[in-house]
Amino acid sequence: MAITIIDKLRNLFSEKSQDTERSAESASEGSTEARTDSSTERVTTMTSTTSIHPAIDRGVAPAQPDFQGGTLTCKCSQEPVQVKVGAQVAHNHACGCTKCWKPEGAVFSMVAVVPRDAVTVTANEDKLAVVDPDAVIQRHACKQCGVHMYGRIENKDHPFYGLDFIHPELFEEDGWAPPEFAAFVSSIIEAGTSPEQMDDIRARLKERGLEPYDCLSPPLMDAIATHTAKAKGVLPQ
Ligand SMILES: [Zn+2]
Ligand SMILES: [Zn+2]
Repeated sequence: MAITIIDKLRNLFSEKSQDTERSAESASEGSTEARTDSSTERVTTMTSTTSIHPAIDRGVAPAQPDFQGGTLTCKCSQEPVQVKVGAQVAHNHACGCTKCWKPEGAVFSMVAVVPRDAVTVTANEDKLAVVDPDAVIQRHACKQCGVHMYGRIENKDHPFYGLDFIHPELFEEDGWAPPEFAAFVSSIIEAGTSPEQMDDIRARLKERGLEPYDCLSPPLMDAIATHTAKAKGVLPQ
């Protein structure tokens, strides 16, 4: 009896979360990608050793106040793609969405933003290709190893225009700002995580100091809504 009610609540909640993600994604992505309901086939059994993300599992070093960027390198052992980033990262977070690049075995990606004019491809640019040309975030990935090197928004009206999305773990240097929160947490179910694992995963995120949200963090959701309100004339420019 109790289990049934909890299941119903959970179902309700997860549907609500997905709707929230859809709206947030359409705000941040403009994505209309159809979500296939293949969860029954793809559910994997997670254990207590399941990786949130390798860097987060072992604990991320604190930011260094003088860190001014460095070089992102893909996973190719020969002729890796290299991207020079001339800035500290902002809004670093764990992301559970199905589009961000994740290291092997991880259920979350780690992703942050930097100003787009701080990002320059410095080696093997010919190995890069855009993962999904129809997505609002153009994710430039290495064709050989699959690592996403940077995600760029070309739509000037987008709330996050001017910011590139990068994976700070790819820095050769230490000192980048560690993740601050976890976004799109419920979405990991869409990639095959069992719903039964969610309490445990949220608890572990909190343990790591990463408040779990099912869309973006309140400051980022506020930034999107403010941009929209200004564009509509509801708020002054
Ligand atoms: Zn590569
Ligand atoms: Zn993501």
